[in-house]
Amino acid sequence: MSAKGLGTPATRAAIIEGLLTEKYLIREARDLTPTAKAHQLMTLLRGLKVNELVAPELTGEWEFRLAQMQGGTLARDVFMRDIAQMTQTIVSRAKEYDSDTVPGDYVTLETPCPQCGGIVKENYRRFACTGCAFSITKTPAGRQFEIEEAEELLKNKGIGPLSGFRSKMGRPFAAALKLVEDHETQHLKLAFDFGQENEDEASEAPDFSGQTSLGPCPKCRSRVFEHSIGYVCESTVAHPKSCDFRSGRIILQQDISREQMQKLLGAGRTDLLTGFKSSRTGRHFKAYLVQQKDGSIGFEFEKKEKAGRDGKHS
Ligand SMILES: [Zn+2]
Ligand SMILES: [Zn+2]
Repeated sequence: MSAKGLGTPATRAAIIEGLLTEKYLIREARDLTPTAKAHQLMTLLRGLKVNELVAPELTGEWEFRLAQMQGGTLARDVFMRDIAQMTQTIVSRAKEYDSDTVPGDYVTLETPCPQCGGIVKENYRRFACTGCAFSITKTPAGRQFEIEEAEELLKNKGIGPLSGFRSKMGRPFAAALKLVEDHETQHLKLAFDFGQENEDEASEAPDFSGQTSLGPCPKCRSRVFEHSIGYVCESTVAHPKSCDFRSGRIILQQDISREQMQKLLGAGRTDLLTGFKSSRTGRHFKAYLVQQKDGSIGFEFEKKEKAGRDGKHS
């Protein structure tokens, strides 16, 4: 490849620095190791059959033709026609796929689905169960899971803290991740854990002696108290723990006041709450929170004709 190499030694160093900055590579002592992000890009390019950008030889070929053009042995318009054609081919191949169907050499996780015990497979963007609707993104907050991390997350329903995440503002942050139940879909979903709930086995059970209970737990009839960032059954935070009932103080951007929690625990339902916002669709909605048969909390929506009369949501 001497005549068809990639760049000059000077530009090569800059290329490698660029790959490090963009987190396609990490430097460990004297080694450069490709990251999951790099593998994902290669998977995409291979899946799209864009071999020109995957194989250094083929990229070197273009450099060689550039040199030929410089030396006058290749006409400029031939070069330009060929490179325009290649670009068109790449773009049209990329358009054939949506992000979930990009073919690739994907992994089947060894750990079963934490929701249903089914087989979880990797696709271009997600790890998805083949047996139920459980799936998680491969790149939460801009950081891509390594396969071993995904295995650990599914096995322990949590991992971390891990560093290397980026906020929407671009600030780096570290956090643990956990799988928590989505109140709306009843499915496990991925959530960041910044450690506000210190309820691991080592921590002490909270003391509720100065507090008034909001009502009986829908699951075990023990007392429910306000705690940390929500409401919790005293048996959920006791050691040993014998219940798992808890509810957020804020559910889908709707503040759940003590008064509403008392109604939910006492009468089995809240008033109509108007400030929910679906995290999936971004739409606002109104709903009652109601106790389900199994003691969990679910939504109940307004009757249809009323919603029609109200017109559009705020
Ligand atoms: Zn499943
Ligand atoms: Zn309980």
